[in-house]
Amino acid sequence: MKQIKQKLNSQCGASLMITLIFFLVCVMIASVTLTAASASVGRTVQQRKEQQAYLSVSSAAQLLQSSFQSAGMSVTAERVALTHQCNRNLSQHTEKPASDWQDTTQVTEGDDMAWLRGYLRSDALSLSKTPDAATPTHTFTIKPDNADMLAVQVKMTMEKDYKLIFDLAAVDPNQAGKTLTAYTMEVAFTGTATEESASANDTTATCQYITTETVIDDTGSFTEVEKTVTTPLLRTTTTRTISWQAGVITKGAIS
Ligand SMILES: [Zn+2]
Repeated sequence: MKQIKQKLNSQCGASLMITLIFFLVCVMIASVTLTAASASVGRTVQQRKEQQAYLSVSSAAQLLQSSFQSAGMSVTAERVALTHQCNRNLSQHTEKPASDWQDTTQVTEGDDMAWLRGYLRSDALSLSKTPDAATPTHTFTIKPDNADMLAVQVKMTMEKDYKLIFDLAAVDPNQAGKTLTAYTMEVAFTGTATEESASANDTTATCQYITTETVIDDTGSFTEVEKTVTTPLLRTTTTRTISWQAGVITKGAIS
């Protein structure tokens, strides 16, 4: 009985209980702190990725802008049309079809923007040939200058009025083939098309037709004489120059 009383009054159990509760509180605080810390680390990683994406995308946009400014982006296409000057109606001569647009852009050696110019040339030519065709697009990647930057995926579209639109998004370093959508940019360049025409008699193509002429011979009688008339065709060369000036950077989402 005395032993039981001692047990009931004993402070040992209570102090163990207090120690246990104190320990439990400590574990709880530690776990809350750890969760907050790891969330904060996660946020920092995400923020760093977004910052990288922003810097990479904006430097790629500036690169595109400056490339167009320094390299003077323009392409030329030429079309030749042959027209008759014989004043005969269509059924009396063989109509030569007008030639289609041909790329006549001057190519300079060692042009490091030749790849981009190649896209401009083929797109501008196809739009000149068939203005109602679907707008041509290309997708390419701008590689980063240093390890801190991300690769940037660029989608290039040439619209019917030769307006160029580049949609930029950073490539996700952790997911191949995916882009980071937090920071995307658009660079747009207005295309200006000018045309010049020059006409001259063609030296190689002629129109020939046979006509009859009434002549008075020595005896004073009228006779019909067949005569071949040759007229040169008129060659008209039209040169179309499409150029792109300073681009405008706008922030926008890629759809
Ligand atoms: Zn003719």
